[in-house]
Amino acid sequence: MQLISHAPTGPIAQSWDKHKFDLKLINPANKRKYNIIVVGSGLAGGAAAASLGELGYNVQCFCYQDSPRRAHSIAAQGGINAAKNYHNDGDSIYRLFYDTVKGGDFRSREANVYRLAQVSVNIIDQCVAQGVPFAREYGGLLDNRSFGGAQVSRTFYARGQTGQQLLLGAYQALERQIGLGTVKMHPRMDMLDLIVVDGQARGIVTRSLYDGKIEVHMADAVVLATGGYGNVFYLSTNAKGCNATAIWRAYKRGALFANPCFTQIHPTCIPVAGEYQSKLTLMSESLRNDGRIWVPKQPGDKRAPGSIPESERDYYLERRYPSFGNLVPRDIASRAAKAECDSGRGVGETGLGVYLDLADAIQRLGKRTIAERYGNLIEMYERITGENPYQVPMRIYPASHYTMGGLWVDYNLMSTIPGLFVLGEANFSDHGANRLGASALMQGLADGYFIIPYTIGDYLATAKPAKVSADSPAAKEAVANATAITNKLLNGNGTRTVDSFHRELGKIVWDNCGMGRNEAGLKKALAQIPALREDFWKNVRVLGANEEFNQSLERAGRVADFFELAELMCLDALDRRESCGGHFREEYQTPEGEALRDDANYSYVAAWEYQGESRSPALTKEPLTFNYVHPSQRSYK
Ligand SMILES: Cc1cc2nc3c(=O)[nH]c(=O)nc-3n(C[C@H](O)[C@H](O)[C@H](O)COP(=O)(O)OP(=O)(O)OC[C@H]3O[C@@H](n4cnc5c(N)ncnc54)[C@H](O)[C@@H]3O)c2cc1C
Repeated sequence: MQLISHAPTGPIAQSWDKHKFDLKLINPANKRKYNIIVVGSGLAGGAAAASLGELGYNVQCFCYQDSPRRAHSIAAQGGINAAKNYHNDGDSIYRLFYDTVKGGDFRSREANVYRLAQVSVNIIDQCVAQGVPFAREYGGLLDNRSFGGAQVSRTFYARGQTGQQLLLGAYQALERQIGLGTVKMHPRMDMLDLIVVDGQARGIVTRSLYDGKIEVHMADAVVLATGGYGNVFYLSTNAKGCNATAIWRAYKRGALFANPCFTQIHPTCIPVAGEYQSKLTLMSESLRNDGRIWVPKQPGDKRAPGSIPESERDYYLERRYPSFGNLVPRDIASRAAKAECDSGRGVGETGLGVYLDLADAIQRLGKRTIAERYGNLIEMYERITGENPYQVPMRIYPASHYTMGGLWVDYNLMSTIPGLFVLGEANFSDHGANRLGASALMQGLADGYFIIPYTIGDYLATAKPAKVSADSPAAKEAVANATAITNKLLNGNGTRTVDSFHRELGKIVWDNCGMGRNEAGLKKALAQIPALREDFWKNVRVLGANEEFNQSLERAGRVADFFELAELMCLDALDRRESCGGHFREEYQTPEGEALRDDANYSYVAAWEYQGESRSPALTKEPLTFNYVHPSQRSYK
């Protein structure tokens, strides 16, 4: 297969405008003749469904929660980037573009990233117009803070609840369209398969989570905005329901999966406390604006943090990276924390933790200011750990958080299946091998509000999809496939719970394809995962029936897909014999322990194509070229 990115050539600053002009339009009266399915109602899907409804298309929007308002985007805490330069501190579209390409360790497409930076400024205007209550300065202007990988303040925020407020904005826009009748919302529906007719995406198969009813929904185009797959690790900062099923089943129908091994381990999460924990909690990166990260200089020092004098503390990020200090990008901060813990200087009972200390900031700014900035995060930390961060430093450790990999999309956000578009965290598009903090919300909203409304029209006007029936053989085959998987899960007579398998799988992936990866570990994982998967299908016990609200069944299907995806992640990680961003192959590092890229051989997007159950997936490479930000060894020193 040949991958054509459709990324425009010519001066990058004009390329999106020129591209938009070249895209075909559909006249307003004709838009209502087209049906579009949007799976997902988070920031990417919610924004897309609302915008497409506003344009006049007939939109069917699906989510598995009881309300679009509960999409996982609601959990986003710290903020959203935009190159507004309100602080007059040297920011610009070009600088956001530069920081993002560099932050992603030169493994993203320049044209996409430039467009993202351009569109970022419109997002803020749109959200303000919707009434999103961004934090403001005394004079009334929107306030900003800094996130990792940037030396400017460009992160807009609403306390530690930015995702929630942005989602309320998108939700209101969506509700307006629901009220107007352009969007029909289908909550509590699980997409279980994609229907492909004559090579085009023409519909989906869903299962009602209320009563198990399997349904077919046909359309002229399908948009997937189903979020990331960080829960493959079992323990992650993602909501428990986050899953890969929609994109994975689309992969099995022919959509290529790009860079599956590019996953993000976030440096500031509450450390694991026990073997039976099922969820990890993020402490937003925004805390690194005011929190200083340190460990005791002496390995094995078990004194309480307050008893360790300044001279015996190592503020290791400030020491190693004086220019960026505590605000180095996530991949670098995570690896540095791991290195400290591996050398015996980790804190807390398990030794898998470092301190994030607000004491200096409280002394400098006062407790009230700190509470205004991070109050809800501090309260959350105290509720979970029983420790008060106003009095003692927080303990943090890296955890699985975000997935840069996802379905391959071209510049128009279309996958390798014509008519199948993929938005937000579900696609691989803009973050390369490491996403900068506060850039996921930006990308999801850019995709949903500002890109898909243009590109989907061009597809429909060009492809002119013919009428298809829900009785088509492809639809029937997809229904049979979804039903067979459900029955197989229910008919097993094993003894182990779905969660116990997921936990074991997650540990294999974390140990071998997590913060550090090496050839031997990846090969071991590639032997362990299929064996465990086989055991899963023999020994899993799914209680209850199909015709009822059955979360055990829901989870079982998702875990079955995680097994297959985990294998692809390890295969991709093994194949990429270099380190870049969050993909740290221990064999390839600089003398200082930083990621060592191999641009001559690996400057490409790795896109994997499903070849059937018994065959290895095929790799296609999309070469990456850099005409503006020239690849160099990333330095934050
Ligand atoms: C704790 C936390 C804090 C974060 N903070 C920030 C931050 O401050 N700034 C930032 O930029 N990013 C942040 N992120 C990342 C960011 O929140 C996500 O990347 C982003 O919200 C994903 O949005 P999305 O629309 O792509 O997917 P989601 O919000 O995950 O939405 C997915 C949608 O798809 C639906 N769906 C999924 N599968 C199916 C299926 N099979 N069938 C039907 N529907 C399905 C769901 O119901 C949901 O509606 C944070 C992430 C976490 C975990």
